[in-house]
Amino acid sequence: MSTNWIEKAQRLGDGSIGGAMDHPSVPGRVVWHTTESGTGDDAFTSVAAHLIRVAAEPHLLYDPTTDRLGQYGPLKQSARALRNDGSTRTNRVGKVCIQIEVLGRAAKPFTKTWKPGPNYRAMMAAIRSWNIPDTFPAGRLATSGADATNRPRAVWMSKGGHYGHANIPGNDHWDPGSIDKAALFEAAPAGKPGTGTTPAKPVVDLSNLIAAARRDPGLPQGGTTHKPDVLVVEKALVAEGLLPAQWADGSFGSRTVEAYAALQRRYGFSGADANGIPGQTTLGKLGRQHGFTVKA
Ligand SMILES: [Zn+2]
Repeated sequence: MSTNWIEKAQRLGDGSIGGAMDHPSVPGRVVWHTTESGTGDDAFTSVAAHLIRVAAEPHLLYDPTTDRLGQYGPLKQSARALRNDGSTRTNRVGKVCIQIEVLGRAAKPFTKTWKPGPNYRAMMAAIRSWNIPDTFPAGRLATSGADATNRPRAVWMSKGGHYGHANIPGNDHWDPGSIDKAALFEAAPAGKPGTGTTPAKPVVDLSNLIAAARRDPGLPQGGTTHKPDVLVVEKALVAEGLLPAQWADGSFGSRTVEAYAALQRRYGFSGADANGIPGQTTLGKLGRQHGFTVKA
């Protein structure tokens, strides 16, 4: 059953913001925005009213500091937070095009300070009820206005998943900024009792992992660069008997580098190919054996 109204969400406006989708045979998707405002209840109230006044309502308004969630319209109908791409009504692409305005600013990625709670998990369960995968098919989000150039039209017109406003063709905003994409999914694990979904495999980003393996050993003890990615791999190294459990801390420090080098040797590599910096082949194999997928 797909969710149209999230029971936990506060109703905003009159419940009617858009209409039928223009491209319902294209897979469903989510678009993340930031409101470029402050957070907290006063901001929530004033932004909620402002978005109605300017007729730019998303489906959902979310405060990442308080877990407060509001909903303007049913998920199966269109919202109004995107600009058209020429003659394409971007708000109406997909079986659903669920738009989320997150209170905050693109320049301060909200996943650094947020406190997702039950309302966030209810929102993600509603998104998954439309079979929207836990992926960002357009890839990179923008780190600044000048960087907002990754808007692949062919991807947008065909692929389901999550997008930032910065990824939408015909638009020029760069929100939601450089948020931690994996954290969005990890904060609401799929397959929890009562959500009616099957567990999604964790996704490990190879480039994140390599960056962590190069940087973390030089940080103060326990320093992390890409903690969610590293933790998944460290747990697999623990299960392989190569890393003491106490070092599975999300920091790809020198112990983890040593453990990964031992894994590379176990998989038949030597010399520079067993230097403890993860590569596609060894990480892919580790993932197949320990239930995660690798994003190259
Ligand atoms: Zn936006």
